[in-house]
Amino acid sequence: MPVGTQGTVKAVPQGTLEDLGAQIILGNTYHLYLRPGHDLIARLGGLHQFISWPRAMLTDSGGFQVFSLSKLRKLTEEGVRFRSHLDGSSHMFSPEHSMDVQIALGADICMAFDECTEYPATEERAAESLKYTMLWAARSLQHFRENQHKVPWHGDVTLANPMNSDESPASQSLFGIVQGGMYPHLRRESAERLVEMDFDGYAIGGLSVGEPREFTRQIIAEVLPLLPTDKPRYVMGVGFPDEIVEYARMGVDMMDCVIPTRAARHGLLFTSTGRMNIKNKQFADDPNPPDLNCQCPTCSRYSRAYLRHLMQTGEPLGGTLNSIHNLAFYLTTMARLRTELDSGIGRVL
Ligand SMILES: [Zn+2]
Repeated sequence: MPVGTQGTVKAVPQGTLEDLGAQIILGNTYHLYLRPGHDLIARLGGLHQFISWPRAMLTDSGGFQVFSLSKLRKLTEEGVRFRSHLDGSSHMFSPEHSMDVQIALGADICMAFDECTEYPATEERAAESLKYTMLWAARSLQHFRENQHKVPWHGDVTLANPMNSDESPASQSLFGIVQGGMYPHLRRESAERLVEMDFDGYAIGGLSVGEPREFTRQIIAEVLPLLPTDKPRYVMGVGFPDEIVEYARMGVDMMDCVIPTRAARHGLLFTSTGRMNIKNKQFADDPNPPDLNCQCPTCSRYSRAYLRHLMQTGEPLGGTLNSIHNLAFYLTTMARLRTELDSGIGRVL
């Protein structure tokens, strides 16, 4: 899932994302709550309408950004009080408030409000943090079920429910998030209790927070078999191309990451022959497309020399063209994997 933090996958127009085959993109609750505000987006018909994106969307709960961006966090059982990274103003996010904001934004998939445990964390600290996440998961679910009819597009029967194969009226779905740091027994406890609560899908959060990659893999391998296979299983915040291939083969259904677009804006391209820093001098007079095996709009039309020139001169088109290629590389990688997995090869968990 390409990440569209501010209601835009940075530098790439929505029509291009459709052409690249993106089926779902992410929006960011924390950022959209602060600017332009969830009430304004609801008045304009919800996030799909506001950004003109007819396909599926997912919003995170805001918990991760409160954890990573805001200043002066104060955590209580009620929720988190924090100061905006924009103007220092004081705000409170609770599970109930996060659900209200996500229902107003109106994405197809909402995420339970959790606390992302930092790395490294002692076992005591991870257990304490998990206590909040589990308490907040139950409160998120209850508040969501009681208020989901307030979604801006409620009652629009022309929308099919993306979570169902039938034509039942559209409704939002809510996923629970497994936490527990790098401690397998806490992860197990978290997964089992969330499955009992019966969410529409399950995510593994608190990964890609600075831990060695071997830990990431171990936690995914530990948790996946505990999550029902008939519901989506989502690993948040991963990863590099080889990682998404590995995790998809393990049985992960959904992943999101800023890497393809963020790396692109810095001139790093992922290609069929490995990583390429397009800013390198060796590409200054190279007439070849960035990736000889790629049919994306960038590779079909532009040379390495031109992309390097755009980066050298700081032209915004450079970030756009690089992002289009990297997204195409990720999306075609996943499309190939889906075909491979459909044919029964490669699934291990
Ligand atoms: Zn390309």
